[in-house]
Amino acid sequence: MTVTLLGLPQDNNSSFLTGPALAPNRIREALHSDSANMFTETGHDLADPKCLIDAGDAPCAGLSGQAAFDAIYNAVNGQLGAGETVVSLGGDHSVAYPAILAHANSYDGLNILHIDAHPDLYDNMLDNPFSHASPFARLMESGKIARLVQVGIRTLNAHQRAQAEKFGVEVHEMRDLSGVADIAFDGPVYCSFDLDALDPAFAPGVSHFEPGGMSTRAVIDLIQNFKGTLIGGDVVELNPIRDTNGLSAMVAAKIAKELIGRILDDFDT
Ligand code: MN
Ligand code: MN
Repeated sequence: MTVTLLGLPQDNNSSFLTGPALAPNRIREALHSDSANMFTETGHDLADPKCLIDAGDAPCAGLSGQAAFDAIYNAVNGQLGAGETVVSLGGDHSVAYPAILAHANSYDGLNILHIDAHPDLYDNMLDNPFSHASPFARLMESGKIARLVQVGIRTLNAHQRAQAEKFGVEVHEMRDLSGVADIAFDGPVYCSFDLDALDPAFAPGVSHFEPGGMSTRAVIDLIQNFKGTLIGGDVVELNPIRDTNGLSAMVAAKIAKELIGRILDDFDT
């Protein structure tokens, strides 16, 4: 079982700042930095090509709208069709819509574990229904998602609370975070990780500072210990322009490593 790393350098759908298109290469540099080794905490050596292969970037740079989504969907779908598993590096969170749709078309009854400060359930923000504020509304409308479970949420307004209710989203708000590592799923799970789920003290390199967030450790604890089978994931919303000394890129790489390790564990058993 090998995991394929895929860069999704896209930020045309960001509502506030650009920058995340620069993230995939910054995360790769952090992953390979001589300041650390390539082992996951759970013992997988990601320097071993039998564990991890880097397929480069999907050809979405410079594209926008449907053309960008098609490039992402086709790149992810191509890997899945070849029997690979994929962890993608965004990009703003809009890239998760085509990436997860490709997974939903390969895995019946797909569940989503979505870790984020924001629910990203807007019906339409700033006249762009495919912005980074809406991917999970579009995914729930597809009818292909069994369960959407959100963790880290601390920005619900009345509209998004109504959207969460409409789609039956299970929202674990930040104010009641205890016990999330006990979350359990039947069937395949895709984990979409938005770096701003973390408190900005842990990862300042994001476009939207949202204080009162998760610790790096709490996210790793959730990834390592939720009940279910992880089959793919993404790390999105690193904005290198806002980062300090590459710290947030290192955090993004750390989370990506543990996601990859969890996939390797779940396919090995
Ligand atoms: Mn998000
Ligand atoms: Mn967010």
